[in-house]
Amino acid sequence: MNVAYEWHDVPPADFAVIGDPVAHSRSPQMHEAAYRALGLNLRYVAVRVSAGKVEDALDHFREFGFKGVNVTVPHKSEAMDWGDPDELAEKIGVANTIDLQSRIATNTDGPGFLDTLEPFAFPQGATALILGAGGSARAIAAVLPSAGFQVSIWNRTATRAIGLAQEFGLESVDKATARFDLVINATSVGLSKDRIAIDWRSAKPATVAYDLVYGKTPFLEEATAQGLRVVDGKELLVAQGARSFEFWLGIRPPRDVMLEAIQ
Ligand code: NAP
Repeated sequence: MNVAYEWHDVPPADFAVIGDPVAHSRSPQMHEAAYRALGLNLRYVAVRVSAGKVEDALDHFREFGFKGVNVTVPHKSEAMDWGDPDELAEKIGVANTIDLQSRIATNTDGPGFLDTLEPFAFPQGATALILGAGGSARAIAAVLPSAGFQVSIWNRTATRAIGLAQEFGLESVDKATARFDLVINATSVGLSKDRIAIDWRSAKPATVAYDLVYGKTPFLEEATAQGLRVVDGKELLVAQGARSFEFWLGIRPPRDVMLEAIQ
């Protein structure tokens, strides 16, 4: 656990992640490892902000000289109201990164997700199933077609999958199967006892199972047992963090150092 400051008691720093709760966030250690590696004299802190106080907190950070913030649950919409969303944040409907001086709000989860797929070199027209219809599923649904994927969406509450699919011109499915090139768990079912029942025997040998949750989740363990390639949420944490870093500072940070810092 990090130290999580209360927003009105925040010490001088340059960047922050705001959320509630936020003490579990690995962003401070990840960004500070990149500052050290690049010899930058910067500080990144975790700050708890309660719902309804996001605009006051962002005004305070701006006046206090902070350069930027990452925004996590449950503040992504409230923070967007304070900021000036760019085209991508507007399309996704959610911002996770704000430049406090310009007020520009962007979303680095979507592009960061695409970065993490590069090593797999999926062919044009590859098929993908997104499990979930929340904020993260939305960010992925907004960018995956631009990378050449044919995208389907499944969600526990089917009406939300249908709505999301219609909004982005995608297909919704009423059963979660593994008959895709890429199967992404973008639900919050992670390390808990809950699981999404998928018959991994129907997967292709080259199918990739991707969980946005960190670590060895039951979803990834079952896919691994079937001999499939897997990706866990730490890859996305680093990729979205690296993109936020570059958005604020105009410098590409060392992603290997950032990944090492959160292991
Ligand atoms: P969210 O907006 O709250 O959406 C939650 C989704 O999970 C909904 O689709 C919900 O379905 C589904 N769900 C919840 N409990 C379920 C259950 N028992 N069975 C089946 N489906 C269930 O959450 P989010 O912001 O999209 O985040 C989703 C996950 O991604 C979280 O665990 C988050 O920590 C993780 N994440 C990781 C990164 C990273 O950097 N690695 C970045 C962003 C998010 P209903 O619509 O039916 O309720």
